[in-house]
Amino acid sequence: MQKKTIKIPKWLRYKKGVNEKSPVWFLDLRGTGFSPDSPEWQEKVNRRIESALKDIDLPRWKEPVLIKCHIGENKCRTRMLPEFCISTVNHLRSSGIKKIVTGDTTVAYSGDRGYHDNGKDCTRYLSLAERHGWTERGPLNTPFVILDRPQTSVKGTFTFSHEAVKLNPGDSCRFREVYLSGGFAAAGAIVNHVHLTLHDMAQVACAVKGLTMGGSSYKGKLIMHKCYAPVIDAKKCKMCGSCATNCPESALAWRKGEVPNLERDRCIGCGECLAICHGKSISMEATEVEDWLKGGDSLPYRMSDYIMGMAEDRWDKILNIVHLYNITRRCDCVDRVQKPITPHIGFVIGRNPFAVDLMSTYLLHEEFYKQVRNGSIKGKKSVRKSEILKIFFAEYHGVEPYMYIQKKYGITVEPEPIRITI
Ligand code: SF4
Ligand code: SF4
Repeated sequence: MQKKTIKIPKWLRYKKGVNEKSPVWFLDLRGTGFSPDSPEWQEKVNRRIESALKDIDLPRWKEPVLIKCHIGENKCRTRMLPEFCISTVNHLRSSGIKKIVTGDTTVAYSGDRGYHDNGKDCTRYLSLAERHGWTERGPLNTPFVILDRPQTSVKGTFTFSHEAVKLNPGDSCRFREVYLSGGFAAAGAIVNHVHLTLHDMAQVACAVKGLTMGGSSYKGKLIMHKCYAPVIDAKKCKMCGSCATNCPESALAWRKGEVPNLERDRCIGCGECLAICHGKSISMEATEVEDWLKGGDSLPYRMSDYIMGMAEDRWDKILNIVHLYNITRRCDCVDRVQKPITPHIGFVIGRNPFAVDLMSTYLLHEEFYKQVRNGSIKGKKSVRKSEILKIFFAEYHGVEPYMYIQKKYGITVEPEPIRITI
């Protein structure tokens, strides 16, 4: 039987001396006084993004087009704003595309976007999307769908009939099975809008995370996460019980005055407890790892492998737009108010999700390095620029997951920046 291999288009294939870099457009808003909430700035930025979109060599896309977004949790004030997707909608409409939706999937943990917390009518999720401006009544004037809930399909515009679509990527992918959300699989093309944040397990949460975690079904998310489980440092634990109360699977047994106890069989490795822990006493460790990349910090590699399984013929149908403003220490899935940890940076746009992520990572390195040099982050002067995120992560991977992808799958990962100004 013929072996199934992953198809990689020419423009994405790494070739020494020919295709060592991928073009990435960087709208540089550093030091401009950019304010994300200002309508004047929103208009200016949209105009600039729309003209950049015309320069990108996009193939002709089929309808319907999905604007993959992240609506952010209730208390998240630093989330991605739909106002900055107006340029995408305008560009699509001017290219003759009428069927456009915004959409995101349910999440493995609990809350308004929770997989288990949304019944048949998905009221909690849909009303949060409405409050955060992602539905027809928002600035984009496009319907919103939950990509793993077929009942939220929009007849005549965007319909899908399954919660999950299983793919078998073949022998060259680490994952033998991947599970896309039905809506992600049904899209003719995807504009992957992502808000860059740091993330306890993904480290730099960007375009690859938006496509993999954000585009896969519940089962797909568990496959990426499932080797993780929390380990609680009893000496640091304040015995507050927040982790147990917020665990979506009730996997932490807790009694007042005691350190929670993990019931491993119930744990799905989602990391909600880690994000919520006020005592900073939880770390995630890999307990059921496959034959590669052992360690609780291997998620960036796992997601990269997963996207290779998800992409199939989708590489030509994806555009990534990263929003680099209101960058916080944890992602927009954390239901609390967070303060930005860098000044606003701008927007990064490109077809190659790895190059887009690497460009965004370089920009982050620069920002934090500046903070170290000017003394706003103290005591780290000896840290190298490329390792600056070690301030936040004990095992920071830097460019290693990208190099891994380049080597294993022959994909170009290095960005060729095209800087644009306002
Ligand atoms: S114990 Fe932690 S990682 Fe496991 S399911 Fe509960 S919240 Fe998620
Ligand atoms: S949230 Fe953290 S500090 Fe509180 S009980 Fe859980 S592990 Fe302990």
